Amino acid sequence: MPHSSGGGSHGGGSHGGHGGSSSTSHTTKYFPGAHHYVYYKNGKACHFYNKEPITPESIEKKQKSFRTITIMMAVFYLVIYTMILTMGVFSKATLPTASYSDNDIIIRDKLGLFDEDEEDDIYDALENFQDITGVTPYILTIENSEWKKHYSSLENYAYDKYLELFDDEMHWLIVYSSDGDKDWEDWYWEGMQGNDTDPVLTTYNTNVFNKAFHKYISDKDYSVADALIKSLDKMEDGMFERHFNLGPLIGGTLGLGFHAAIMFIGIWASFMSTAKTEKIAFELPEADKKYQEDKCEYCGGMFIHGIHISCPHCGGALPPADGPIFIQNPGNLT
Ligand SMILES: [Zn+2]
Repeated sequence: MPHSSGGGSHGGGSHGGHGGSSSTSHTTKYFPGAHHYVYYKNGKACHFYNKEPITPESIEKKQKSFRTITIMMAVFYLVIYTMILTMGVFSKATLPTASYSDNDIIIRDKLGLFDEDEEDDIYDALENFQDITGVTPYILTIENSEWKKHYSSLENYAYDKYLELFDDEMHWLIVYSSDGDKDWEDWYWEGMQGNDTDPVLTTYNTNVFNKAFHKYISDKDYSVADALIKSLDKMEDGMFERHFNLGPLIGGTLGLGFHAAIMFIGIWASFMSTAKTEKIAFELPEADKKYQEDKCEYCGGMFIHGIHISCPHCGGALPPADGPIFIQNPGNLT
C-alpha cells in the first residue's frame, strides 16, 4: 500500500528493565564457618552472616568491584549506543530493486496551471528524477472541489488515487489542488509514494523536497512549475549522501540513557545499603549461637544482652551485666 511521503519515521526504542542484582554476600541464615554480625536499626537488632570477615580491606574490595561493574556497564551501554548510531542515526538512500513495467511519466494538469514550455521543463525534470531514482513520478493538478466533495483530506484522496492509477508500489504521485482564486488562493498539495520507493524516497529525502516545495509555492515569485523543478533539484543534490537523523539519536539517547540510569541506580543503591550496613555492623564472637536480646526501658529498642553499657538506639544507661546469655535450643542453629 502506498503511503504519504510526508509521514513515516522510525525511531529507536528500548525495553524497560529493573534494577541491578544485589552485590551483597550477606545472608540471614547461619552456615558453618560463617561470621556472625549484628547492627541496630529501627529499634531492632539485625543479624547477618558473612563468609568472609568484614574488614576495611574487604570494604575496599567491594568498592573496587563496584567500580569495575560501573565501568563494564559504561562499556556495554557505549557499544549498544554505537550500534544505534551506526544503524539508525546515519541513513543513506539506496536504489529501489522492485521491477515494474508502467514507466510512463505523466503530467495530468486538470487545472491548466502549466503552459507548454513549463510542461516541457517539468517533464525534463521528472525524467531526470526517474533516471536517478528508478521511481516513476505522476503529477496531478485538480480543483479543490474534486476531492472536497468526497474526502476529508487531500491525503485520503491521493491514497485512493494512487490505488486507482497504479498496480505497483514504484510510483510517486504528487497532487496539487487549488480553488484558482487569484487574490487569496486556497491551495493544497500531497505526495503519495509506493512502498517500494522507500529505499530512495527516504524520510530525509522527502523532507528536503517537502520543505523546499512548500517554501516555493508559498512564495508568489515562483510558479508551481518552478517550485516543483527547484524542489526536485534540491532533493536530488544530496540524495545518496549519508544523512544524519536526529529522531533515532534523541530516541536512542533518551531510551538508553534512561535504561542505564535505572540499572546504575539499582546497583548503586544495593552497593550503598551493603556498604552502610557493613560500616555499622560489628562481629559477635559466637557465630553459631543465638544471643538473648533485651528491651530498652527508655526507648523500647532491642539490643543484645550483656555487651553494651548504654542502649545502642537511644544512648540510655543500661544496668551492669556479666556478658551475653545464649538461648538454649535455638532451633535451626546447629
Ligand atoms: Zn534505648
